[in-house]
Amino acid sequence: MDIGFRIPGTEERVNCANYFISQFQNIDINFTYVLHNFTVQSIECQNVLFKLNQNHENIIILGAHYDSRAKATKDPNPINRSDPVPGANDAASGSAVLIELAQKLYQKRANLSCQVWFLFFDAEDQGVDSGGSGMIGWDWCEGSDRFVTDINNFYNDNNETFDCMILLDMVGGVNLRFINELYSTSSLLDELFAIGRALGYTSQFPSNPQDNQIIDDHRAFLYIGIPSADLIINFWDNPNWPFHHTVTDNITYIDSDSLQATGRTVEQFIYNNYWNIPSNPYNGNYPWSEDIDKQSIEIITILISTIVIIAIAILTFNVIKYNSTTRISEVE
Ligand SMILES: [Zn+2]
Repeated sequence: MDIGFRIPGTEERVNCANYFISQFQNIDINFTYVLHNFTVQSIECQNVLFKLNQNHENIIILGAHYDSRAKATKDPNPINRSDPVPGANDAASGSAVLIELAQKLYQKRANLSCQVWFLFFDAEDQGVDSGGSGMIGWDWCEGSDRFVTDINNFYNDNNETFDCMILLDMVGGVNLRFINELYSTSSLLDELFAIGRALGYTSQFPSNPQDNQIIDDHRAFLYIGIPSADLIINFWDNPNWPFHHTVTDNITYIDSDSLQATGRTVEQFIYNNYWNIPSNPYNGNYPWSEDIDKQSIEIITILISTIVIIAIAILTFNVIKYNSTTRISEVE
């Protein structure tokens, strides 16, 4: 947060990318990284990718966006709406958890049977919102879209495969409660919830999470067939964290317990699936091929219920009609 506003095209955005590089080089001076440059509306943007355990072929992508929104378009005070969002939760929180995970997983790397990518997206948060405000000509999630377009430049498709992608977006706020994000691969998201709850983070991973679908950086990876999950809060009309795209999304409303719950859960997910000990018991959903579309199931349920109700109504009507006809003939 000391770096300032990470708006695309600014010195602070560059400083933030350099900060990630310095943090990963503190872990290992030779930590492999790739800079992915692209432009949006002639502005230079940059995704930053770090690779751990390149000797393994199965890749897990852990992602977060690091740009912060140029304008606080949802601020309750109209005077603030042309000011930038500090972006503590949205999404310095996810970036911070990625750095911490890199430190932890690096120490355990010899025991992990997978490659891990730590992927920081630029240009996620500059789209035009429902109020018509944003950077003109910019869409949401430009960084992840461009990354997926160019993904063949970053791995060898002869021997490397992507197992899954986990996105951390707004994971550090006070009163954290993750939602059941509906674009996400359900078997992957359900497993993350189960692990979080098993670790005792039952308020962060509630048993009855709110359903919602969010346009976010995981969608580009879903489109190319990689099981993906978005760990994200309800950020619309949420009285417990009402700071989305306001000037108040600052460090005051970050809770270290939220960051820890997120980081520990993702860390445990990696150990459950990739700890290289044959005796390790595993009860997860690998390879996360199942994706139950809960919205379609709801629509089908409503349709079937409606048909059954209409059928009962017709039947009842006919029985009444038959009875009254019978009575009339009896009178006759
Ligand atoms: Zn945002």
